[in-house]
Amino acid sequence: MSQKPGDHGPGQPGCGIGDSTTSMKKVRPPNSSAGRNCYGVTHVHSTRSFDGQCSYAELRRLFQSQNLDFACITEHIETLDQAAINRIIDECRSHSDGDFLFVPGIEMDCYRVNFMGLAAGTIDFTSDRTVFDSLRSLSRLCILAHPVKSRFTYADWILQAADGLEIWNTRHDGFHDLRPQNAQLYRRLLIDKPDAIKLAGIDLHAPGDYRALTMHLVITGDLTEATVLGQIQQNRTQILKAGRPIDAVSLIARLAHRTRIRIMDRLQAVHRQMTDRGLAIPRPIKRIARRLAQG
Ligand SMILES: [Zn+2]
Repeated sequence: MSQKPGDHGPGQPGCGIGDSTTSMKKVRPPNSSAGRNCYGVTHVHSTRSFDGQCSYAELRRLFQSQNLDFACITEHIETLDQAAINRIIDECRSHSDGDFLFVPGIEMDCYRVNFMGLAAGTIDFTSDRTVFDSLRSLSRLCILAHPVKSRFTYADWILQAADGLEIWNTRHDGFHDLRPQNAQLYRRLLIDKPDAIKLAGIDLHAPGDYRALTMHLVITGDLTEATVLGQIQQNRTQILKAGRPIDAVSLIARLAHRTRIRIMDRLQAVHRQMTDRGLAIPRPIKRIARRLAQG
């Protein structure tokens, strides 16, 4: 049976896993005259984020063991200053080469947006809005992230500044299927922005967050921020779930997936209510329930 990139299902490879790059090349589909097949993930946090658990070296090993070529980093800005942001860009560069690429970026959770393809420059830390404006001018892409967290609503000025939408975030939408409300928001976005980008994000903070929801694109030339982001910017990408296009799902499977999303939402609502009442669920039970509900 042929193995597809990322076709390993959710796993717990561990930050300390050994170098497992050896099997990478032999399972890769052949490149065509159109260019080099590249597979990657977006929305990734390292230890540079206050809640990230993996270093860049560990992330690289994790992703290469999943047969990937690139990862778009989105570090939380809340605890960062100018020097820390400069270090993120430096680390992305120093852990990238012709085999694997880190694209530097920042997440601003207060506005529910990710900035991707961040270039070195001065951030104005006067206010959230000035930080947003600085990042916008220094970044190649501004993406609306995990829209369920903003209840699928964004201020007009954010919608204007954005290039696209994270249509599926496995941390918040699970791994069954994309959330219908996200698809609806994307269709609304297309009215004013016919070129709006569609992205899948894994919102990875720890190895156990890995899900095989990958972006496939074809580049001509070297593996660089310019070649990868260029294809993303032009929406010349395909979202793959466990190596298969997300559109290639039967109607029955889609209905089953969406039912599971509704169950997941119901369980999350119950969890929120319990938390509000000060009732704590033991962590192991929470972990099992999360895995069962989110896929
Ligand atoms: Zn995130």
